[in-house]
Amino acid sequence: MRRKLVVGNWKMNGDLARNRELLGALSTRVPDEVDCAVCVPFPYLAQARELLSGASVTLGAQDVSEFAEGAYTGEVSAAMLADFGCRYTIVGHSERRSMFGDDSALVGRKALAAMRVGLVPILCVGESLEERSSGRTEAVLRGQLDAVAGIVGASSLSKLVIAYEPVWAIGTGQAASAAQVQSVLSFVRGWLADRTPGADDVRILYGGSVKPESAGPLFGLPDSDGGLIGAASLIAAQFLGICEAARIAWQDNVRQFEGLK
Ligand code: PEP
Repeated sequence: MRRKLVVGNWKMNGDLARNRELLGALSTRVPDEVDCAVCVPFPYLAQARELLSGASVTLGAQDVSEFAEGAYTGEVSAAMLADFGCRYTIVGHSERRSMFGDDSALVGRKALAAMRVGLVPILCVGESLEERSSGRTEAVLRGQLDAVAGIVGASSLSKLVIAYEPVWAIGTGQAASAAQVQSVLSFVRGWLADRTPGADDVRILYGGSVKPESAGPLFGLPDSDGGLIGAASLIAAQFLGICEAARIAWQDNVRQFEGLK
């Protein structure tokens, strides 16, 4: 059975003092039943690694270079992230796609670079409001997913975490409805099943204005394995509340599973 995963995306937020406070609050209070990670800005990886040592919270980055090493000023390689104890890196976040020119081919190359050193890419996909309104949600996601699959190869798809993040729900305070989320997560699961026997092992997250109050229904959906959390990951009480919602959703899954035996 897939464990729930809750990942904080700090974006370009934090400083040494605030990080210490936030990570201090998380390090002892995240429930054991939930996999939890924080994706911190590059300069704070060392600090976060130290503060999380011995804790069950794992570490991630928010982006990675497509290149392995060399004359690429300003880039950070996957091997460097691994060196600092990262387990995950986000690739293809909509802010990078819209503001920094990360197209799906580049996102695929970044995912491949991450996998080559054993990092787990958290691949973000999602549609804009205009794309949803014109009925193109699945076509947009298929395009984003196909492009990445063409680069990493079908046999590597089971090494991804996929985060469905509708662009219109990110940072807007308006999370997608449970019905909207389940419909897309099930589409993504079906897309995976057509390409890899490992489709049932892939964790598919939802991201976009998740709060402790909305997390339970979203994490309890049949194809939902947790969330990618932006703003609420910067407030310890909120992030812990979301982790607790994941724990409860996990317990419900276990009960259902036991009931089926
Ligand atoms: C995100 O940026 O990945 C995100 C989900 O942000 P928020 O939770 O703030 O909408």
